[in-house]
Amino acid sequence: MLRTHTCGELRINDVNKTVTLTGWVQRLRDKGSLLWIDLRDRYGITQLFLEEGKSDQKLLVAARELGREFVIKVTGTVAERHSKNDKIPTGAIEIKVESIEVLNQSKVPPFTIEDATDGGDDLRMKYRYLDLRRNIVRECLLLRHKMAQQTRLYLDGLNFIEVETPVLIKSTPEGARDFVVPSRIHHGEFYALPQSPQTFKQLLMVSGFDRYYQIVKCFRDEDLRADRQPEFTQIDCEMAFITQEDILSTFEGLVRHLFKNVKGIDMPSVPHMTYADAMRFYGSDKPDTRFEMRFSELTSVAKGKGFQLFEQSELIVAICAKGCAGYTRKQLDELTEFVKRPQIGAKGLIWVRYEEAGTLKSSVDKFYPEEELKKWAAACSAQPGDLMLVLAGESEKTMKALGELRLHVAGQLGLRDKNKFAALWVIDFPLFEWSDDTKRYHAMHHPFTSPKREDIPLLDIDPGKVRANAYDLVINGSEMGGGSIRIHDRATQQLMFSKLGFTEEEAKKQFGFLMEAFEYGAPPHGGIAFGFDRLCSLFGGADSIRDFIAFPKNNAGRDTMIDTPSTISEEQLDELGLTIKSENSNR
Ligand code: ASP
Repeated sequence: MLRTHTCGELRINDVNKTVTLTGWVQRLRDKGSLLWIDLRDRYGITQLFLEEGKSDQKLLVAARELGREFVIKVTGTVAERHSKNDKIPTGAIEIKVESIEVLNQSKVPPFTIEDATDGGDDLRMKYRYLDLRRNIVRECLLLRHKMAQQTRLYLDGLNFIEVETPVLIKSTPEGARDFVVPSRIHHGEFYALPQSPQTFKQLLMVSGFDRYYQIVKCFRDEDLRADRQPEFTQIDCEMAFITQEDILSTFEGLVRHLFKNVKGIDMPSVPHMTYADAMRFYGSDKPDTRFEMRFSELTSVAKGKGFQLFEQSELIVAICAKGCAGYTRKQLDELTEFVKRPQIGAKGLIWVRYEEAGTLKSSVDKFYPEEELKKWAAACSAQPGDLMLVLAGESEKTMKALGELRLHVAGQLGLRDKNKFAALWVIDFPLFEWSDDTKRYHAMHHPFTSPKREDIPLLDIDPGKVRANAYDLVINGSEMGGGSIRIHDRATQQLMFSKLGFTEEEAKKQFGFLMEAFEYGAPPHGGIAFGFDRLCSLFGGADSIRDFIAFPKNNAGRDTMIDTPSTISEEQLDELGLTIKSENSNR
């Protein structure tokens, strides 16, 4: 090793030792007679010290020529500092420098290597290797490492086996769009990158592996959205001979293990809520349960009083914002503007202030005298001092809009504290989801999810009502993981494909291997996958997953550091059989 210690290691009881450190020059402070250098490595910062008259003159000249981010090797003696810095672990000591060797020079970095850097996003991404030198980014990756280690520890302890599944697989139409890879040897044929190892992990259950996991890259060519990565990582798991309850308790165990061992937090056990209740109470299948503010339905109480908007509405529904009766007109107008935004899509907002004095004032006083509003307050369990916010319209849209308003108001009230964690299992998802675009049902989770046995008769009558043995783990209003109990017999799988509009031929071509496997003794099985990047960013208290990925793509799906996607040469295109011969060149 070039060094005897790291830059985070030396303490007061190391005083008088001769040490050698290596690292990057973080900062140089030249006070004329005294010169300090902050030397940084992955482990911390150690202060170096030279003194006019005491240090060797040549050494002082050499030190003054160091630039930021130069890589140096320094030998010296550990000394106690006069003015100590209790903000860093090495703050009680400094090194009296005896020799400096420049291991490599550095150009002036394009942004400062500090927690609060002056570099914008684009610059940071282009020079990601410099960005990764910053403490706060490095800590995100260390957290990720710890999460992965703890995940392996927990799952290994329960006899899960880590198995790698292939990355060059086959394109399938269900789910998101695939990334495809052209085959050179078989022109006109393509591999696809896995959106998840779903079918492989099920096949491993047929093979008898019984408990599988993998921390694995998945690829989805979806439309770009802020904070979405085309490649991302899942903790992918599957178990055989289990019930849904077994899966939920095993993976609740994983999450609690991570909270305990990574964050030192004792998580209470995770409550279960049906999808139907989540929608009814929160207007969302991933409710933020750090706070209550549940929906109260006012349809029957509020209809029939001649207020046009309500008369035409399928649903009238309210939330009660505790202690918000004092909201000003301006604040209420702002909330009205919020719900009217096209993304939210409500026509307007009705509010009722339940004033401290016990009087009720609303934006619909003309139609609703106080004794009517009292009934609303009772339905909402509102108390003096509270504010009721009411939306009306078509059921589903109105619930979604109120769900957004609920989050918005909670945000204003500081109820979405990043240091507080509330987890929830949402269970009994619908099996299908209707798509207005394609005019057919799609699998809400994926086509391998089993319907609830008691709902199978509904498959023919009312597919939209069929519930699945599918579940999501939601933390703080984000979906952290999802999975299901699978179909494990050919007939049901075939039925499922036919309900999804596959011809028998198509189903066989795309998933024949799986259905055939089901004919060779497939055990009952089920599983789950967690979004690992997201889980890390939740643990790290960050809004973005970007800094928990060493080399992420930007919001346009590009890696600006290596500059990709990029063109490939004519020869490569030719070899792959992808050359497009223009009409002109044929003439
Ligand atoms: N493969 C599923 C997904 O990626 C998870 C699962 O069902 O286990 O969402």
